[in-house]
Amino acid sequence: MKVIFWGVRGSIATPISGKVIEEKIEKILSLATPADIQSSESIQTFLKTLNFSSRSTYGGNTTCIEVRDSKDRLYIIDAGTGLRELGNKVLQEGYLSGKGHAYWLFTHSHWDHIQGIPFFVPLYIPGNKFDIYTSVDDLYNRLAYQHSPSHFPINFEDMRAQRNYFGIKEGEWTEINESVRVTSKALRHPGGSFSYKLCEGNKTFIFASDAEFNVDEMENIESYISYFRSADVLVFDTQYTFEESLNKIDWGHSSASIATDIALKAGVKKLVMFHHDPSYNDEKLDAVYLRALNYKNMMDERNELEIIMAHEGLTIEI
Ligand SMILES: [Zn+2]
Ligand SMILES: [Zn+2]
Repeated sequence: MKVIFWGVRGSIATPISGKVIEEKIEKILSLATPADIQSSESIQTFLKTLNFSSRSTYGGNTTCIEVRDSKDRLYIIDAGTGLRELGNKVLQEGYLSGKGHAYWLFTHSHWDHIQGIPFFVPLYIPGNKFDIYTSVDDLYNRLAYQHSPSHFPINFEDMRAQRNYFGIKEGEWTEINESVRVTSKALRHPGGSFSYKLCEGNKTFIFASDAEFNVDEMENIESYISYFRSADVLVFDTQYTFEESLNKIDWGHSSASIATDIALKAGVKKLVMFHHDPSYNDEKLDAVYLRALNYKNMMDERNELEIIMAHEGLTIEI
């Protein structure tokens, strides 16, 4: 399997401003020596020495993940604003001529997870087929509501691609096709949210955002630990710093330290920090990541867990 991140921001899309780009350029120029800027090769080498927030950005689009199985079939998780650019990319893969076929999983219907749908071009093209899998009872009504005339000029049914809906019963396995199966687990989140576990052969990918796990609940967490057990990749809600999570009980999100504790208990191989708070700029996210790595180094004596910070464009091979 392969996982590509198109939207990693939580709650609301967070475009980077021109002023912030200027500040990044100023910082980079102040660090460069004449030797660093002699050729495009030396510039590339120099850029690689900078920390992530100086040379790039984690991205401002909200939740959308592309998953590919070993046969390159497309699975989409959620439909935040990152979906728009994923749609533009797959137009070159048969979706422009109405020959596309993808599977789509929906965790819940908060705006930051569905707002990309009206701008997802492949849904307007007849012939494309989307098999939608979800544990959310009334997903169709929730999605159609977003297209009511007071919110958007085009009715949901006037998007002409074929859509088939399939329910996933929590805790049971559903065969999506001959090689990939999925199961779900409810997460604590205002209005409810579901995690999905996708398996192909002996590879396991789990998406678990939006989710609130707090310190008090760590003793009652066994069912989650067994659900997360030995995942190759676990994408987890780490919206808050630990201090902030103590002030934001019941807001429905978690912190990196809780995520690390859970991932270590469950023997997860790779933890991806996800659903970044819209108020955190790139420097703050660098700092949050560094703190998470320090905490992991303290707790992970056998150095078995890898922690990655999600950013737009991040690609993980499983
Ligand atoms: Zn969210
Ligand atoms: Zn949510």
